[in-house]
Amino acid sequence: MTNRLPNVLVISGNDPSGGAGMAADIQAITALSAHPAPVITTLTVQDTQNASAVVPIEPDLIVDQATAVLEDMPIEAIKIGLLGNAAIGSAVADLLQDHKNIPVVLDPVLVAAGGAQLAEKSLIDVLLTRLIPLATILTPNDSELHTLAPAPDADDERAASLVALGARWVLVKGADADTPEVHNTLYGTDGDVEVYTWSRLPHAYHGSGCTLASAIAALIAHGEDVVDAVTAAQRYTWEALRRGFQPGKGQFVPHRFFHLPEAPLK
Ligand code: PLP
Repeated sequence: MTNRLPNVLVISGNDPSGGAGMAADIQAITALSAHPAPVITTLTVQDTQNASAVVPIEPDLIVDQATAVLEDMPIEAIKIGLLGNAAIGSAVADLLQDHKNIPVVLDPVLVAAGGAQLAEKSLIDVLLTRLIPLATILTPNDSELHTLAPAPDADDERAASLVALGARWVLVKGADADTPEVHNTLYGTDGDVEVYTWSRLPHAYHGSGCTLASAIAALIAHGEDVVDAVTAAQRYTWEALRRGFQPGKGQFVPHRFFHLPEAPLK
């Protein structure tokens, strides 16, 4: 095969504001010199403030889109974002089951930055029983961690319970926690724990989680190990957020091409 960029299969939803979802994924993966292959799972009606509707695509059509890509090109990583409902989650789990050699970055998207519910409750069970066991790395924010692992008292125990389900790594993002700085914590299978601390940026952001998970997937696709990918992807995301801009009336979005020479920076 001729020289090419590493391929990342992206399975996620569309956010027409361009802040989060597939547009965020495509931008972050492209910015890190990998090639995104986008498979849309859901359409949303959404602006930079909140979402008002989520429309799922037929599971068979999602599988057909992904299969066409998987049969055409080598895929170095799979990034999963919004799935929307249990039927889509199960169809994607079947697909992953047939491609267990490909690393999977699973962002368990349940709620929009503005607070709207993006996924049916029944998806949670499919995440726990079918998808998390197949994840190389799971990237919940603090509130998703509490939803996925409601029982234990401490976040460490909550994350450990998700690792016990089969996720090799769990990165808990702390931007939504009430702390002066942002602490992201990476939990590994053998009890490894790494805490990353970032200064808290001034605005509310749309698409930060999508950007981070996609950056991790792109770097894994380049051959980086998970810990290096997580470290570099956080730096990339934080820099993109630091130069974030407000395209509409609501949240800020990351400037995912801040590193281009002609990108205007404010
Ligand atoms: N995917 C879609 C389609 C979305 O609309 C959203 C949020 O609105 C997300 C993912 C998650 O966004 P964030 O990266 O802000 O967590």
